[in-house]
Amino acid sequence: MTDSPWFPISLRLSGARVLIVGGGEVAARKLRLLERASPRLELVARELNAELAALRDQGRFHYLGVEFDPAQVSGCRLVIAATDDAAFNRQVAAAADGQGVPVNVVDDPAPSSFITPAIVDRAPISVAIATGGAAPVLARRLRERIETLLPAGYGRIAQFMEQRRPRVKALPLPQRRNLWERFLDGAGPERLLSGQLDAAEALFSELLTAAPGVATGEVYLVGAGPGDPDLLTFRALRLMQQADVVLHDRLVAPAILDLVRRDAERIFVGKRRNQHTVPQDEINAELVRLARQGKRVLRLKGGDPFIFGRGGEEIAELAAHGVPFQVVPGVTAAAGCAAYAGIPLTHRDYSQACIFVTGHARADGELRLHWDQLARPGQTVVFYMGVTTLPRICAELIAHGLPADWPAALVEDGTQPSQRVLTGTLADLPAKVAALAPSGASLLIVGEVVRLRERLDWFRAGGPRGGAENLP
Ligand code: SAH
Repeated sequence: MTDSPWFPISLRLSGARVLIVGGGEVAARKLRLLERASPRLELVARELNAELAALRDQGRFHYLGVEFDPAQVSGCRLVIAATDDAAFNRQVAAAADGQGVPVNVVDDPAPSSFITPAIVDRAPISVAIATGGAAPVLARRLRERIETLLPAGYGRIAQFMEQRRPRVKALPLPQRRNLWERFLDGAGPERLLSGQLDAAEALFSELLTAAPGVATGEVYLVGAGPGDPDLLTFRALRLMQQADVVLHDRLVAPAILDLVRRDAERIFVGKRRNQHTVPQDEINAELVRLARQGKRVLRLKGGDPFIFGRGGEEIAELAAHGVPFQVVPGVTAAAGCAAYAGIPLTHRDYSQACIFVTGHARADGELRLHWDQLARPGQTVVFYMGVTTLPRICAELIAHGLPADWPAALVEDGTQPSQRVLTGTLADLPAKVAALAPSGASLLIVGEVVRLRERLDWFRAGGPRGGAENLP
């Protein structure tokens, strides 16, 4: 390990004098950054660019004029030299150094007595990344990674804890620490991140009065998207990594299940066509039972939980039993398949509306849909669960007025390495699909937008069958 000559600290700037020398874009950037700490900002520059001139007129800093004078440094907490004249910057640095005032020359560590880190701002928390001037680009990369790790509302957790410090003060230190550990390990932080302050307060009070009561866990109803793990939301990933148990079905791709916390218990509750493995009411009851054991239960669903996902039924049961839950939307199959197949769902010239409809036949084999509304030009119709009924769907659409050569596409395993896309017309697609015999999840897209795929196709499926388009 090499020692760094730089030591990171957090400096109180509110009310303190900070002098910026320079009037261009760099100076303006530093000024905007420093402003957040509410210092008394002073600025010297031969010329002000338009932005700085406007900020001066708003009284955002005190303009000390065009001439730098070493006396201006006296009493400042920090000085920043940000002109485009390297030699002049060094004169400013020497003046500050001579008076013992910390100085930074932007992008020039040698004459600087301090350097500014890259910052991830989650006020009141800030994460500072400093490379000692060695590799600012690397620091920015790191910052991007940390940005994605820390949810935007992370500061709320710190705020919550800060505001409650007076209330825990009476506790002896080890107990205080223990209380916060338990709060952070429990559901509190997640409540705060999803904006449920009252629920977080209730958990905190419970810990404070040391009346643990019946442990209640919670349920995360999470949309896992159509298969490509890259399409998960940050929140989905976070909850997947803190769940104690996960209930998933067949639609959730293995690559996504791999991202669930390793030691979480996995329960498969999948449903295949005509083969209901676990009846819905058993799933609902299981969710309640597991949460009552105090577990963090992840209910992971393909696509979006509120689109043909029966998510509403599951949380209705939770609500009825007073089990806390939250719902995380996911990229629904229609959006995912359309994007990865190069088929825009709407288009100014061809489609002013988009309808999502289920092609799943009822138990009696009936497929009762509002065909007259579906068989119309100027719109896109997406059928979920429509492979087995595909021939009937196409025939009905033609019978209700769409031309036989109306474009249609079937997307199988959309967004995944095994994705296949078959395009055709209402008249010939059923035969093509029958020949291909898709075994994966498949979505039917009907409308003139399907033709755009000829020009907009971009995704190269990489799976064993990938790219086997229109094979038969
Ligand atoms: N909640 C899900 C849909 C569940 S219904 C969502 O929002 O996407 C199940 C149907 O979704 C499947 O029969 C299929 O029609 C469609 N589907 C889901 N994932 C798919 C995928 N990766 N490719 C093609 N169709 C998919």
